[in-house]
Amino acid sequence: MHKLEQIYEGKAKKVYKTDDPELYIVDYKDDATAFNGLKKGTIAGKGIINNQMSNRLMQMIERKGVPTHFVKELSERETLVKKVSIVPLEVIVRNIAAGSFSKRYGVDEGMVFDEPVIEFSYKNDALGDPLLNTDHALALKVATRTEIDTIKTYALQVNSILKAFWAECGVTLVDFKLEFGKTSDGSIILADEISPDTCRLWDSATGEKLDKDRFRRDLGGVEEAYAEIMKRLVDHEEK
Ligand code: ADP
Ligand code: UDP
Repeated sequence: MHKLEQIYEGKAKKVYKTDDPELYIVDYKDDATAFNGLKKGTIAGKGIINNQMSNRLMQMIERKGVPTHFVKELSERETLVKKVSIVPLEVIVRNIAAGSFSKRYGVDEGMVFDEPVIEFSYKNDALGDPLLNTDHALALKVATRTEIDTIKTYALQVNSILKAFWAECGVTLVDFKLEFGKTSDGSIILADEISPDTCRLWDSATGEKLDKDRFRRDLGGVEEAYAEIMKRLVDHEEK
């Protein structure tokens, strides 16, 4: 399977057509952005780590019953995926208060929730990805009620799977963002990526941040944190 024309270049990945109309190739870059593109930079080696980590996590999630877009890893930075029409929602799941939740509601980062919190933002860069609820999503016709129910069920299943997995690696899953898409037969599957760009991951023993917050907040040791989180995953596989 090889790349045909590029159909999209985003902030972190490029997307290409292939000779199969149902399949795309995604190509992971080292480019990093934050605050809706206001902060820009490069994280050396990030594309390789995000590609490999996302693929391993997606395969684990698929084995445990949630359908994903993953088809085949083609190279260090490239993966063959099922083409979907992306549902324009950023589906955020939170186990612990951090980031925009802490800011919006005035609570300390680190407050542990009794139950996971699902939150949607409208995937629209021009509007700054505004927060929205299920009624807003239905009014905007971004998805049907059945699709939203499926998305919520899948998001909670993914949370249980990832939370348990990262705990075994000595890592606390604080929160993360998922994107879902619709295949040509109308079914909802997990798409995009699951990586330190899209998750908050804290060392369970020290609380050290092992994710993109090191870049967002100029904490230093960004490349080292990405390498460390990947090492935790690989070490777990070898156990
Ligand atoms: P952004 O668009 O936010 O800058 P990226 O740089 O990660 O993000 O670009 C990848 C784009 O590809 C995103 O818009 C994402 O929604 C989309 N995408 C991810 N997986 C698939 C898929 N399987 N089929 C179609 N589009 C996808
Ligand atoms: N997130 C993401 N892409 C976005 C916004 C958020 O991957 O465009 C992830 C982010 O990495 C974190 C979670 O979603 O793991 C919750 O992010 P939050 O709403 O706290 O936003 P932020 O603090 O990043 O503005």
